[in-house]
Amino acid sequence: MAAATSFDQLSAAQIAAGVASGDFTAVEVARAALDAVESRDGEVQAFLQVTPELALEAAAATDARRAAGEKLGPLAGVPAAFKDNMNLVGTRTTCASRMLANYESPYTATCVQRLIDAGATPVGKTNMDEFAFGSSTESSAFHPTYNPWDTERVPGGSSGGSAAAVAAGEVTISLGSDTGGSIRQPASLCGVVGMKPTYGAVSRYGVVAFGSSLDQVGPFGRSVADVALAMNALVAGGRDPWDSTSQDCPVDFLEHLEDPVEGRSVGVVPELMEAAGLAQEERDAVLLAARSLEEQGARIVEVELPNIASAIAAYYVIAPCEAFSNLARFDGVRYGYQEPGCPTLAEQTSKSRAHGFGEEAKRRQMLGAYLLSSGVYEKYYYPAQQVRTLITADYARAYEKCDVILMPASPRTAFRLGEMSDPTEMYASDMFTISNNIAGNGGVSVPMGLGAASGLPVSAQLQGPAFRDRSLLTFARAIERAVGGACVAPAFAGRGGELA
Ligand code: GLN
Repeated sequence: MAAATSFDQLSAAQIAAGVASGDFTAVEVARAALDAVESRDGEVQAFLQVTPELALEAAAATDARRAAGEKLGPLAGVPAAFKDNMNLVGTRTTCASRMLANYESPYTATCVQRLIDAGATPVGKTNMDEFAFGSSTESSAFHPTYNPWDTERVPGGSSGGSAAAVAAGEVTISLGSDTGGSIRQPASLCGVVGMKPTYGAVSRYGVVAFGSSLDQVGPFGRSVADVALAMNALVAGGRDPWDSTSQDCPVDFLEHLEDPVEGRSVGVVPELMEAAGLAQEERDAVLLAARSLEEQGARIVEVELPNIASAIAAYYVIAPCEAFSNLARFDGVRYGYQEPGCPTLAEQTSKSRAHGFGEEAKRRQMLGAYLLSSGVYEKYYYPAQQVRTLITADYARAYEKCDVILMPASPRTAFRLGEMSDPTEMYASDMFTISNNIAGNGGVSVPMGLGAASGLPVSAQLQGPAFRDRSLLTFARAIERAVGGACVAPAFAGRGGELA
């Protein structure tokens, strides 16, 4: 390896190959990543914890395996970061909440373990909106994260730290979770690839639950191939018996990655392309994606998703109800922050929750408590579930006519910190992503370069039928081949992180 190559110029496959062939060691790559974090993260603040000991230990183990002549995993030596709602022994899992500020991971989440088993080097835990409620990472109890393309702007959320860490070239891949858009929207705002797999494709064991019928874990990377490699690691080993919703997903995501899309069909939803609030440059990005697929021989067909306009309303009934029930465990007794000096249990519970949770986490739980109360439940929860059935049926009908659906991922590019003061405005950030969680299908956000108006990353989103996630990546790769992929944000590229 020539001197002065920053590890951030290498793909996951190149790192794994370089480690396997002895061009460089996993420890050298780990040092380079830690060095990049050291010189870049002061401005990005993607991390809540950096884990040099864990990184160097894992990397040394990888190098030892090579020295012993063992076959290395497909992610050998690849620096990876994990959203801080994922347990990893030796780290705290805070969910960016005061409630869990000192919570030590009692075990390691399956998704994290599978990346490490594939050889990945754990560099740290990333910032997020508190308990994954949000679209900007501003609701973290600790600090915001800044978008590497413009540090006056948000990285999106809730997995904003994971997206920003990849966009700043601090790590090669990362994991996030997506309940209503929290992988795809930050991927879009940070100009990286972000995939929400089909519900059940990836185990959620060891990931702190938000909305159990919606949550799904998935990877970020700077290329479709890196995301495919990470997906392979996440599904390796099949169904996780520790997550009852997990399913076998016996697919090699690299196998058909370079397949032509000729003759295959891509659905577009005309009303969505005209949706109020969709910025012209994001619309143009999707049109460019459509054109590039068409030029490669794909057929563009119009499809309808008539009930998608009700998706946000249904989500903001279902998700808070599930969040309220999931977060009831943070009662100041069993987990997390405990208010000192309370004479009664009732006071301890109430004060622990009042002081442990931030504003948005309280808003969601109060909303959930109200929606689940008798009388209200019948009026809102039932219809929301009925809307869910309608949206799922809409998708099933649409997929009779097309292989994938192409649409925006985010209505607009990265906004300024503090710009969205009205929570309902923030909720609208997920207008193109939420319906897919409601239906349980997979989706991927594909970087489409920089917007003409803002100069910030724009994107397109591909959605597909359940357990057709591999074909999403084939289409994403076809777009990437035509328009070029992601890169490290220029202000950070090559700053520290040199491989000797
Ligand atoms: N922005 C959405 C919300 O705040 C989605 C969050 C997520 O996917 N975790 O609920």
